[in-house]
Amino acid sequence: MKFFFLIFGFLFVYSNIFANEVNVYSYRKPHLVAPLFNKFEKDTGIKVNTVFAEKGIVQRLKNEGKNSPADLIFTVDIGRLDDLKNNDLLQAVNSNALNKNIPDFLRDKDSMWFGLTSRARVIVISKKSKHTIKNYEDLADSKFKGKVCIRSAKHPYMVGLFSSLSFHLGEDQLKSYLTDLKSNLVRKPQGNDRAQVKAIYSGLCEVSVINHYYLALMLNDKVQKKWADSVNVIFPNQSTFGTHMNISGVALAKNAPNKKNAIMLMEFLSSPIGQSLYSTANNEYPVNSKIDLSDTIVTWGNFIKDQTALSKIASFRKTVIKIIDDLNINN
Ligand code: FE
Repeated sequence: MKFFFLIFGFLFVYSNIFANEVNVYSYRKPHLVAPLFNKFEKDTGIKVNTVFAEKGIVQRLKNEGKNSPADLIFTVDIGRLDDLKNNDLLQAVNSNALNKNIPDFLRDKDSMWFGLTSRARVIVISKKSKHTIKNYEDLADSKFKGKVCIRSAKHPYMVGLFSSLSFHLGEDQLKSYLTDLKSNLVRKPQGNDRAQVKAIYSGLCEVSVINHYYLALMLNDKVQKKWADSVNVIFPNQSTFGTHMNISGVALAKNAPNKKNAIMLMEFLSSPIGQSLYSTANNEYPVNSKIDLSDTIVTWGNFIKDQTALSKIASFRKTVIKIIDDLNINN
């Protein structure tokens, strides 16, 4: 009996010193990451503790400093990932599995962050419109005067798109593009991506840009299905630089206390099983090209993606935000 308690006591102390866990700070919603983390826990015995937040992770990590319990940060958008990097809150991960499973353009050039799922910024146009549209540039065409709706030009999804246009067209072209786009708007930029589709359905505008997975979500929603049914989906710039892609990604915290477990979780997420669980949860495109697409998005077919490195595109964000402010797009 004494021996039993001795062993039990040893195991208890041991498990607390070498806790078999990994701590995640997540901007992504619980239902998107829970299936992944459950599978990882079941396969490895490593417990995943998650803190969910809507905002403020950068400040929280700064405040916690060296004592931060965070191992991994889960977020969407190159902007947020790049903010973490620029605030010196991350460390590089050199992993053959990650480098093999995730294409170059969807991970940071210094290996500070890695894309796990990707999303296309698509054009939606009313089925009633008498115009056709092929490229992002066409949103600024005078034929769409008074027919365009967008969300805030400073939302990360829009800043990402405009940063890619700045890269492809040049800064001067971007300025004239945004000036013309502004003059085509039917109302001040407002609402989220789905609200743009609703505005098209209600006849307020004809055309907008949104992330593709919102269409899948709307098609599966009783009230919103009619909004989604009122638009055609266009994957832009198929004969030029391809459709702008953004990512949801993961990064290793600078002071990660469970680094080994954290890298195991990252690698799991890039593996076929992790990729198919994660991408289907939100109808996103897997970054690992060997994975099948979800049923809803497979119906939209293949398209040409802009394969410019997202870290390159992210480097334009600061200047683009200044241009948006200077041109007063949101007001
Ligand atoms: Fe979103």
